[in-house]
Amino acid sequence: MLLLGNLPVNVGAFHPMGTNEIVLNRRLLRSKTGMTERSHLFAILLHEYLHSLGFEDEAHVRRLTYRVCLDNFGKASAVAEAAITGPWADLTEEDFGELEPDLNLELVRNFERPDSGYII
Ligand SMILES: [Zn+2]
Repeated sequence: MLLLGNLPVNVGAFHPMGTNEIVLNRRLLRSKTGMTERSHLFAILLHEYLHSLGFEDEAHVRRLTYRVCLDNFGKASAVAEAAITGPWADLTEEDFGELEPDLNLELVRNFERPDSGYII
């Protein structure tokens, strides 16, 4: 399940271990729909998905995220770049100044449809 939450700006997302949840920082979605932003979202979700598969070591998950992006999109792709840099390079000082007081979690409906046939 995917949830949106008001996380500190330096946290893209997190996966609570032992759950099937990924909490994505809502602030990264605000009015950002270009290829760079979508690439960052893909890399973040892939990273947290790898955590959900049981990979706990942060450095290992970062390497795996980059490897998956590299193998599937190529070294020159925006996704491979995003896997290395993260979304923080594009944030302004104002972005870092806006801290939300609470998580305000919101479930993203139909993120994973029950009739999807990819799990066998
Ligand atoms: Zn991580």
